[in-house]
Amino acid sequence: VTSINVISIISIGALHLDAIKAQAEQAYPQECCGLLVGRLNASGFLSITRVVASANTSNANTADSFEVDPKVRFDVMRDVEHSEDDIIGHYHSHPDHPAKPSQTDINMAFEPEFIWLITSVNTGQAADITAWRLDQSTRTCTPLTLLIRDPG
Ligand SMILES: [Zn+2]
Repeated sequence: VTSINVISIISIGALHLDAIKAQAEQAYPQECCGLLVGRLNASGFLSITRVVASANTSNANTADSFEVDPKVRFDVMRDVEHSEDDIIGHYHSHPDHPAKPSQTDINMAFEPEFIWLITSVNTGQAADITAWRLDQSTRTCTPLTLLIRDPG
């Protein structure tokens, strides 16, 4: 079994990407967030098979922080329990900030195996989407390659 930690390529469906962007624009100027469900595929990279939107339940300022609703997470965990899929990460938006992890993101990260997707939203318009993984030992983030699958 290949460890998720050595994976550097993530694939996501174009429709999933559209869904994340739409949610990010709707939440603007607050941050949106949700979970990424997926699996390791035969080519040795991670495929996102489902994106699950969550309310942003952060107790801090939701314009620059996020927290996935624990109930959403619980429901998704139950859904994937007897499937090939797993929760492989989360996504969130950066209103009027670049699509890269903030120091707050890194400080709040407790799950080193998780993939992060971040979409920037510039004056209400979703822009770049990037993928990252936290290096637990250095507490820095490594960019990953995000492949976009065609719909269908
Ligand atoms: Zn962030």
